[in-house]
Amino acid sequence: TEELLRKSDKLSVAGQLAAGLAHEIRNPLTSLRGFLQLLQNDVKGKQHYFDIMLSELDRINFIVSEFLVIAKPEAIHYKESDLKDILQSVTALLDTQAVLCNVVLLLEFETEIPKLVCSEMHLKQLFINLVKNAMEAIPKDGQIKLTVSLQGSNLIRVRTEDNGCGIPEDRLKQLGEPFYTTKEKGTGLGLMMCFKIVEAHQGTMTIQSRLGEGTTIDVFLPTRPSGQSIVELT
Ligand code: ADP
Ligand code: MG
Repeated sequence: TEELLRKSDKLSVAGQLAAGLAHEIRNPLTSLRGFLQLLQNDVKGKQHYFDIMLSELDRINFIVSEFLVIAKPEAIHYKESDLKDILQSVTALLDTQAVLCNVVLLLEFETEIPKLVCSEMHLKQLFINLVKNAMEAIPKDGQIKLTVSLQGSNLIRVRTEDNGCGIPEDRLKQLGEPFYTTKEKGTGLGLMMCFKIVEAHQGTMTIQSRLGEGTTIDVFLPTRPSGQSIVELT
């Protein structure tokens, strides 16, 4: 346990530094953006360059903000919650987007499930990330299915299945590494955040995939993570 403690001490220092750095980057970005917009009105015939500069600045800002979410040393507030409410609010949030992408988004409960001690906000973030990835993996029509089941009496499994592009086998182990992305506009931070959230809830997450067929991600969450080992998300 001593080794573990020391390791998490280090993590939290690194997290604090990263969060500080992210803030320091964002402030000058804001002033750069402002002055660029001012100049844009004075310089004629070079609008295209300004558009590129502004959108590149926005991109830096977006990456830094995503990073901040992960790095920010943030205490998780756990409370007894209803996973049904959490998942329903996730699907409600993403339904419109799904319709626009011709994706059918389904949520199914195989059994009644007990209440779960968790951080609602973080679990929402987790499943939003998973469903968004699934949507982005579906080139045109497709289906994303969330299935909730109970494994034994106090382990909940939430399975996210898509029939998207799939992931080549030799890439599977890279998932969750920071900045690993195959998308032009991706950040490669989403899955890393998912793993962190699951870990903080003392759960596990497994990914299975077949190229060209689809991806299945299982999140296992204990209904009562044991008190003393609830960690801060740093
Ligand atoms: P991002 O979405 O910004 O690329 P993520 O960490 O969320 O970053 O995902 C990392 C990479 O994992 C993605 O770029 C994609 O290649 C792959 N991936 C994640 N989820 C899926 C999925 N459901 N189907 C296919 N590939 C996926
Ligand atoms: Mg993502």
